[in-house]
Amino acid sequence: MGLFDFFKKKKTYPLYAAKGGCCYSCGQSIGGQTVYDVPYDDFYDSILWRGWYKHHMFMQTNKRISDEDIENLRIRDRQPSVLVCSTCIYMFK
Ligand SMILES: [Zn+2]
Repeated sequence: MGLFDFFKKKKTYPLYAAKGGCCYSCGQSIGGQTVYDVPYDDFYDSILWRGWYKHHMFMQTNKRISDEDIENLRIRDRQPSVLVCSTCIYMFK
């Protein structure tokens, strides 16, 4: 592995075997699944997730979500990190 590859290396996040709770991204129950502990700002900074969330909310509620709405969520719900399921983790790598 060259130096360039080293800097290109994908981010990895700690893995957990979840006892319960929900994925912070999709809201699915994550009990018994392998989940990832993603730092809060990495979560909200994800362009992929923002796109997914806007689409998801529009499909669910017919409401358009702006980047400002997402920033308001980020401010309101601040915590050190959030749990993300193995289906959603591709958006944060
Ligand atoms: Zn998920």
